[in-house]
Amino acid sequence: MIKYRLRCACSNEFEAWFQSSTACDAQVQGEQVACPRCGSHDVDKAIMAPNVAACGNRQDEPCPPPAATPKELRQLVRNIHRSLVKNAENVGTRFADEARKIHYQEAKARGIYGQASSEDARALVDEGIDILALPSLPEDAN
Ligand SMILES: [Zn+2]
Repeated sequence: MIKYRLRCACSNEFEAWFQSSTACDAQVQGEQVACPRCGSHDVDKAIMAPNVAACGNRQDEPCPPPAATPKELRQLVRNIHRSLVKNAENVGTRFADEARKIHYQEAKARGIYGQASSEDARALVDEGIDILALPSLPEDAN
C-alpha cells in the first residue's frame, strides 16, 4: 500500500491509500477517486514531498533519504556543538573519567562533553556507556 496526496480542482488536498502507483494513476484517471470536500472526480496527484519526487517513476519503492551537503552537515555539527556548550558541562580531558563516574552513579547524572582519546572512547563503549563522538570544527580550535 502506498499513500498519495491528491489535489482536487476545488484546490482541496487530501490523502488516499492505493495498492501501487499504477493503481493510483488508474483510479485517478478512471475517475474512481472523489474529492471528500466537493465530491468531484477532477482530482490529480499533488506534488509529492521532495525526497519522494526525486525517485521519479519508482514511487512505490522506498526512497533513500536526501543526502545532506557538506555545508548542511557542518551546520548540523555546529548546532550540536552549540547546544552542548549551552546544556552540558565541559569536563575537558577528564571526559572518560567523568563519563564512567556518571555511568556507575558515582557522580551526578548530567550532560558532559570533553576530549577523549580513541582508546578511551572505545573502552567507554565496551563498558556500555553511551557516548557520541563529534568531529571538531576548525573554529573550535581557536
Ligand atoms: Zn474538491
